[in-house]
Amino acid sequence: MHDDKCKETVWRSELWRSTQCQNNIWEDGYCKQHHPETIAARQDKRDTEFKMKRAADRKDHEIHTLEENIVSLCIENYTELPIAVMNKVSELIKLRET
Ligand SMILES: [Zn+2]
Repeated sequence: MHDDKCKETVWRSELWRSTQCQNNIWEDGYCKQHHPETIAARQDKRDTEFKMKRAADRKDHEIHTLEENIVSLCIENYTELPIAVMNKVSELIKLRET
């Protein structure tokens, strides 16, 4: 154990074993990369990114469902639609079939 180096143990695949981190101490006996605060911040960032991604996926799904509903309604009431909407629905149906 070198007291001037970070106290974290890291896996060294080339040696096929764990050794003490070779980075210099930043604070509290840890390098910046392995300091508990850095690790907690990294985890927080990952959690936030995950939550944002999940919210975005949920929204995409809601939009897609709503689009499906609108298209179904348009198809059911096709002949009553204004010409401009009829044309757009036709375009959409054609696009979905390709
Ligand atoms: Zn370290």
